[in-house]
Amino acid sequence: MTQHLCFIGLGSNLGESCDQLRQALCELDRLPGTRLLAQSAFYRSAPVGYLDQPDFVNAAAKISTSLTPLQLLAALLNVERNHGRQRTFPNAPRTLDLDVLLYGDLRIDEPALTVPHPQMHLRAFVLQPLLEIAPDCFIPAIGSAYQALLSCRNQVLEKLTD
Ligand code: AMP
Repeated sequence: MTQHLCFIGLGSNLGESCDQLRQALCELDRLPGTRLLAQSAFYRSAPVGYLDQPDFVNAAAKISTSLTPLQLLAALLNVERNHGRQRTFPNAPRTLDLDVLLYGDLRIDEPALTVPHPQMHLRAFVLQPLLEIAPDCFIPAIGSAYQALLSCRNQVLEKLTD
């Protein structure tokens, strides 16, 4: 079956966020037809949108998968649910957030799924971990992820050590 290279954005700001992310990375590797190929360091970032909530811990993962884009999205939403994710309001705190950042070089515009993720080029907490595992990353219809990160210089990230 054809394998597709994809990048997943991970975030958490409720519960033991680093543990949630570590666990989620193992769970990505166990999805059907899927292998975890690389993971970034963890980064602490300030919340965006709704500010009165804890800082986030973010990371990025590179996977190879035979799942279709919608199958992958459904699998990620299932992992989020298993981590007790509740949807209350936009930008609310969350135990685990998993986003499909890139699916090969596909552009997808469906009601349930937009790829590349529509805000990824505006967010240092996505771009910096992504560039760590994909230094030459190109975002379809946007351009170089490195150039995009240069435009996010005002967003402060702290790289966490183990
Ligand atoms: P959020 O509250 O940010 O986790 O949004 C989750 C919803 O966004 C999901 O139910 C998806 O249908 C939708 N969505 C659209 N594009 C994406 C994407 N690239 N990655 C993850 N979720 C997406």
